[in-house]
Amino acid sequence: MPIGGRSGSGNPSRRSTSTPRFRTVRRPRRPPTHAAHVGAHRQKDGLNYLGLAPRVGRRAGTLLTQVAELAEAHGSRRVRTSIEQNLIVLDIPDDQLDSLSTALDTVDLPSRPSTFRRQTMACTGIEFCKLAIVNTKDRAMTVVEELERRRPNFDTWFTLNFNGCPNSCARIQTADIGLRGQIVTTVDGDQVEGFNVQLGGGLTAQTDFGRKTRGVKVTATELPDYLERVLRRFQETRQPDESFSAWVARSDDTTLT
Ligand code: SF4
Repeated sequence: MPIGGRSGSGNPSRRSTSTPRFRTVRRPRRPPTHAAHVGAHRQKDGLNYLGLAPRVGRRAGTLLTQVAELAEAHGSRRVRTSIEQNLIVLDIPDDQLDSLSTALDTVDLPSRPSTFRRQTMACTGIEFCKLAIVNTKDRAMTVVEELERRRPNFDTWFTLNFNGCPNSCARIQTADIGLRGQIVTTVDGDQVEGFNVQLGGGLTAQTDFGRKTRGVKVTATELPDYLERVLRRFQETRQPDESFSAWVARSDDTTLT
C-alpha cells in the first residue's frame, strides 16, 4: 500500500477497499494516439521494419552484436533506437520478416511483447548515474514481470516510466504512471527506496502533465501491489474505449491511492 501522503489522509487499508469515487472532470475519452514502433510495419519503400522491446531498454553489447548479425543475415543493414528505449530493425524484405522475428525472440527481443514490457521505460538509475537516489532498471524489470503475471489480460495502451531522481531523464511527467525515485519512511520508521507517483500524464492534445495524487509515495517493495490495485480499478470502472489518462482525470484521489 502507499505510504506517506498528506497528513490526515486516513487509513490506507480503508481507502484500498472502498468503492471507487469519481470527480466530475470531463475530458475526451479517445485513447491517445501513439507510435511505439513495436511490431512489424510497412515502410514507404515497400520493405518492412520490426520494432523490438528490450527489457526496460537494457541492451548489452553482446546483444547488440547478435541483433546486427541477425539483421544482416535477413537482408537488413540498418538498426535504430527509439525514444521509448526500443530497437528497430529496418529494410526487411517480406520473405525475411517472420524468420527474423522468430530469431529475435530467441535472444529475448520480442516484437509482440506484453503491454507492460512494450511501454515501460527506466532511466539509468543508481547503477551508473551519480545523481540517482534509487535503483530503477532492476525495479522496473521486476514490476513488468509481476504485472505480466498478475494482469495477463491487460491490453490497454499504457506507459510506465521510472526516474531515479527529480531530473526526469525518463520523462515521468508525460507517462500514464510516472515514478520518481526517492527515499521514503515506512510506518516502522525505516528509510527505504521508494517512489513518488504521478498519474495520467501524456503528450497528446487531450492530456497534461501527470497528476500528483496527494503526494502518494510507495516503497519499492510495495510498488507491484500498488500498481496492480490501480490498474485493476481502471479495468473494472473504465468506460468503453476510455484511456487511462482520461480515467485518471475523472477519478478522485481515493480511487488512485
Ligand atoms: S533521472 Fe536522475 S537518476 Fe535517472 S539518469 Fe537522470 S539524472 Fe540519473
